[in-house]
Amino acid sequence: MTYVIASACIDVKDGACQTACPVECIYEGGRMMYIQPDECINCGLCLSVCPVEAIFAEEDLPAEERSYLEVNAEFFSPAVTDWGSPGGANARYKTCKDHPLVAAFASGKEAGGVGAKGTR
Ligand code: SF4
Ligand code: SF4
Repeated sequence: MTYVIASACIDVKDGACQTACPVECIYEGGRMMYIQPDECINCGLCLSVCPVEAIFAEEDLPAEERSYLEVNAEFFSPAVTDWGSPGGANARYKTCKDHPLVAAFASGKEAGGVGAKGTR
């Protein structure tokens, strides 16, 4: 079991969960935070402080957010950062990289911008 950060964190990434996590297993990517599933002790503190309800216990992930279980885990794989299990987030483990699914996620800002330009 692990806790999982899902799409609501994308482009919000205010860091409240990172400050709250007692084992520092929440790591910062370019557009969102990611939980290292092997380091998470399932305490639930992060979930209670997230302002946009982006964090779920694995078994509570809504169907449309299921892919974020893999997104969080794969962020630490050779395919993205190759960090493995660093044992604690610190300045060395911060990156502008994201999981491909997150990198490709269309932001509300972009969608609104295009619409705004087209209609005014
Ligand atoms: S559930 Fe606890 S250990 Fe796991 S990421 Fe959240 S705050 Fe950290
Ligand atoms: S508290 Fe929520 S919105 Fe803020 S960085 Fe963590 S998951 Fe993202």
